[in-house]
Amino acid sequence: MDFPASLKQLIHQPQNVAILSHRNPDGDAIGSSLAMRHYLEQYGHTVHVLFPSEFPEEFEILPGADDILVWDIHTEECKHVLARKNVFIYLDFNMLNRIDKMGDYIRDLPGTRILIDHHLYPDQIADYIFSEPEASSTCELVYRFISGIGDGQKINPVVGKCIFTGLVTDTGSFRHATNPHVYRIAADLVERGVDDSAVQDMIFNSQKEKNLRLLGHCLSNRMEYYPEFRTALIWLSKKDYEQFNIQRGDSEGIVNYLLTIRDVRLAAFIHNQPTVVKLSLRSKGDLDVQEICKKHFNGGGHKNAAGAYSHDSLKATIDKFKSLLPQYKDQLLKN
Ligand code: 5GP
Ligand code: MN
Repeated sequence: MDFPASLKQLIHQPQNVAILSHRNPDGDAIGSSLAMRHYLEQYGHTVHVLFPSEFPEEFEILPGADDILVWDIHTEECKHVLARKNVFIYLDFNMLNRIDKMGDYIRDLPGTRILIDHHLYPDQIADYIFSEPEASSTCELVYRFISGIGDGQKINPVVGKCIFTGLVTDTGSFRHATNPHVYRIAADLVERGVDDSAVQDMIFNSQKEKNLRLLGHCLSNRMEYYPEFRTALIWLSKKDYEQFNIQRGDSEGIVNYLLTIRDVRLAAFIHNQPTVVKLSLRSKGDLDVQEICKKHFNGGGHKNAAGAYSHDSLKATIDKFKSLLPQYKDQLLKN
């Protein structure tokens, strides 16, 4: 990472900053946004964190989560706040359509833009772009940003806890997408006073009874397995959402259970959200699900974890996904 003098100056003088992250924010989006906020506030910046849509309940206990503005809920307040900002920091996304209508709203607002992200193929939407697709998480990059600019001492236990959250969620508890930085950063954060077990507890031991019932329903009634394509699929309808009284964040992580089947190489979770059908794809090995999402469903993400939205019906989306499998058969059976 290079830090031009103009950027250092911007960060080290109080500004009016908006930190934005993607729709359906996950632990990395929330952790990186709050870490950045708590870091910047040490320099006297006025900071707001804004998301297009709500975030899962387990993250509500992160410091500062209470003040996050959600466009879907607080639209007018978001517009009012954004119109007064002079610095926009984009975290954990790299194209404006990932922040929905908020992207249209801020597109032409004056201000300096900084992007820190680890998804493939960034759009050139910022003045300063820190894009590293090899990074485990945006939280890793936020740590390296703060240290690289010379402010490592500002990574206190609060900033650290937020960073640790994204390290854990985007690596599935250090199981995938890791690299030597991740372990060094994790060790450093623990030395700085982060309670690593408490973070893991917040993320993984915070389920409600209905989440487990839903998981049971998914695994026993909604799972399809195609051994000839080494592919497994779970789908959920609007009715399922009603029956289990679940919101969209409640089904986060279900797709990962499919990867625990030894022979599976491709896992899909396809489900109805209020106005769209959402696909989450995961893969093991060389199969690039980012490419599948981009090419066939106008989505994106990473090689082994990607997503997309479809305006077709649930059934049509599932059928389309299944119809693609033969063309990936060689890759699916290769390793
Ligand atoms: P998830 O399946 O957990 O929603 O997303 C997996 C990964 O793909 C995440 O890194 C997420 O940011 C990315 N992703 C999910 N949906 C989309 C989408 O519609 N477009 C793009 N470009 N990326 C997505
Ligand atoms: Mn991420």
